[in-house]
Amino acid sequence: MRRIACALVHHPVLDRGGTVVTSAITNIDLHDISRSALSFGLTDFFVIHPVEAQRTLALRIRSHWVEGSGGKRIPDRMPALGAMRVVSSLRDAVEDLGEGAAHPVELWTTAARPGGASPLTFVEGRARIIGEGPPILVCFGTGWGLAPELHAQAAFQLEPIRSPRADGYNHLSVRAAAAIVFDRLLGVG
Ligand code: SAM
Repeated sequence: MRRIACALVHHPVLDRGGTVVTSAITNIDLHDISRSALSFGLTDFFVIHPVEAQRTLALRIRSHWVEGSGGKRIPDRMPALGAMRVVSSLRDAVEDLGEGAAHPVELWTTAARPGGASPLTFVEGRARIIGEGPPILVCFGTGWGLAPELHAQAAFQLEPIRSPRADGYNHLSVRAAAAIVFDRLLGVG
C-alpha cells in the first residue's frame, strides 16, 4: 500500500468570479479534515497557505490541541491535529512528502465538476493506492475551488462525487467532500 496524504489549498484557488485568489483559514476545516484523514489512514494533512499570519493561526490551533489545554480536555483530537503540517506552498508540501525535491510525489486533484487531462475514477484510485509507487497527495480546494494551474500540475483529477438530483447540484463543503473521498478511496466494509 502506498503512502497517501492530503492537502487543503488556500492558494491558488478561485473566487466567485473565477479570479485566482488566496482564501482565509477556516478553523473547522482544520479540525474536521485532520480527524477524517487520521481515521482513514492518511499519513499527513498539509495546510497550504502563503501568508505567514495565516500559517501562525493554523499553528496556534494545532498547538492548542496537541500541546495545550484542548488536547488535555479532549485527548482524541491530539493525534489528528498532530498529523497536520502547515506549509507555505504546494511545492513545500511535495518536498516534505517526497523527502526532498528529488523524490516524486503523485498529485491528485478534486473538484465538483469533471475535468482534467487524466480523470481517475474512485475504483481506479483505490487500485492505484494498493499498488506500488510514490506517495500520493490528494488536493482539496477552498474558495470556489482549485485554480486551473493547480489541476494542470496533477497526475490525475479524481471524478466528482455525484448527486442524484435532477439539476446535479453537488457543491459540498470541503470537509464533507474530503471525508467522502477518503471513504471511497480507503474505507473498509
Ligand atoms: N469554503 C468552501 C466550503 O467548504 O464550503 C470551500 C468550497 S471548495 C469549492 C470545496 C472543495 O471541496 C473543492 O475544491 C473540492 O476539493 C471539494 N469538493 C466539493 N464538492 C465536491 C464534489 N462534488 N466532488 C469532489 N470534490 C468536491
